[in-house]
Order: sequence, then structure tokens, then C-alpha cells
Amino acid sequence: MSDSTDLTNVTHLPVPDADHPAWSDSAYTIEARGEVAWAEIDLRPDCPLCQGAGRTRVEADGVITMGRCRCQRLPDRIQLFNRARLPARFADATFVSFAQEPSGQLKDLAPSGIMALGECSQWVEGFGPEIENRGIVLHGPVGRGKTHLMVALLRELIFGHGVEVRFIEFSRLLSMLKEGYSSGRSDAGILGELAQVPVLAIDELGKGRLTEWELAVIDEVICRRYNAMGCTISTTNYAPGDPTGFESANLSTAKGPSQNLVDRVGERVYSRLCQVVDFIEVAGKDHRKQG
Ligand SMILES: [Zn+2]
Repeated sequence: MSDSTDLTNVTHLPVPDADHPAWSDSAYTIEARGEVAWAEIDLRPDCPLCQGAGRTRVEADGVITMGRCRCQRLPDRIQLFNRARLPARFADATFVSFAQEPSGQLKDLAPSGIMALGECSQWVEGFGPEIENRGIVLHGPVGRGKTHLMVALLRELIFGHGVEVRFIEFSRLLSMLKEGYSSGRSDAGILGELAQVPVLAIDELGKGRLTEWELAVIDEVICRRYNAMGCTISTTNYAPGDPTGFESANLSTAKGPSQNLVDRVGERVYSRLCQVVDFIEVAGKDHRKQG
């Protein structure tokens, strides 16, 4: 049940005094609801410009402009957030909570974690809705906070830039398509939506047994986004680099050889990814093993 209102590149009228609490961009709460992180707006006073109608007129230098009122910016972004379907487990994931405990105490991050945090926040700052944005692949071993960092980045994109974003776990994408097949629906709708959303976030890219059919699905998603010049962000447990030739993933032990991303997704997908994304390593300590 996705709302089809197009909220991409919506502009809100400028106001002379952005300090009125009706125009606050921080009056919201995010919490886990079922499988997803859900945002709700806090109570705000009536908007002095539109009295809640949502549309108004402003006058600047003798020119009158009609449009969407500034007070609608936060509700619009909350709608974007709730459509993004970020996972409930990461409802509290922000750049700040990546580096700090709720008490404010700094976490004991490894240098690569601190660097990855810096690169992700720089990437968000440089993001522009009108330019072709390079994507990101966050890679590293299990439990280093890759998904936390990706969700934090998406949250900044939504609330800071008003960007339409979709989060999908790779195995969930495959099961959605399989459900579609078994109920006689085609995968065109699902794939079409994923191909067109301005920012697509794929969690756990390359995970699973990866049958021929599954590889064809990754190929289609990545290639369609490549052609549409959409921005794709992913996490993966597999490193960039040349094919290893190893047959199995071998992620169960820290020792011994493991496959690279190219072994998992195939050379065609990997080479397209390399053209449109930057790889950022998130290594260091395993957060899940810390008490
Ligand atoms: Zn208003």
C-alpha cells in the first residue's frame, strides 16, 4: 500500500521568519512499529501563514507566489520516511548514535569506522537532487555497523534533503518477487518501482545461495538503475576486488579465504557497480559481540 503522491523535488515556500514552531523541522519522533521504523509528527501550533490549509501565498519584493506552505515540509519528509520502510531494528540509527551511546559516552570505534562515518556524512552533504550522485557500497565483516550507517545516511537524505528513498533487504526482495510469481503477478511492478526510486538502498547485497535466477534479478535491478542513472547504496559482507575463484562464501570463520563481491554478483553487475559507486570499508570491532 504505497502512497503514490510524488514528493520528489517538492519546494516549500520560503518564509521570512523560519523560527516559528509551526515550521519546526525537528518536531517528530521515530520508533519501531512492526517491521519498520515509523515517524510521527509531534503536536505543533497552528501555522500563521496558512492556518493548516497547506497552501499559501508569500510576497517578496512585490512578487506574490502561491505554493506549498513551509509548514508542510516536515509532514512531507515524514511521509517520505515512512515510505522508505527502514527496518525497525534501526529506528534509533543516526550518525550520532553510530559514534555515541545514548548516555553521550563515545563508543570505542575502530579507525575504519570513524573514517566511514566521516565519508558517509560528507557524501550526504554533497548530495544534490539535480546532479548525478555516485552511490556507495559499505563493505566489511558481519557486525561492524554497516546497516546502521546506511540507515543513518538515508535518514539524513530524507530529513535533510527531502529525497525519496527505498530500503530493501536483498533476501526480502527475492522473496517478494517469488510471492509475485506464485500468485500469478509479474515482477514488473516491483522491479519498475525499484528501478525508478531516486535512491535505492539494498541491504546484504550478494547474500544467499544465489541461484541463476537470483543473479538475473540482481543484474536487472542494478542495470536498470544504471541506465536510469539512479543512485544505489548497498551494504555487503563481501569485499571489492578481483574474482577469487572460490566456490563458497566461507563467512562462518574469520580465518581462511572468502569470496569477493564479484564472485557473488557476477562480473557484469560488479563492473557496472564500480562505475557508479564508491566502496567504503567498515571494518574494526564487532559491535554485536560487545556486552
Ligand atoms: Zn502553513
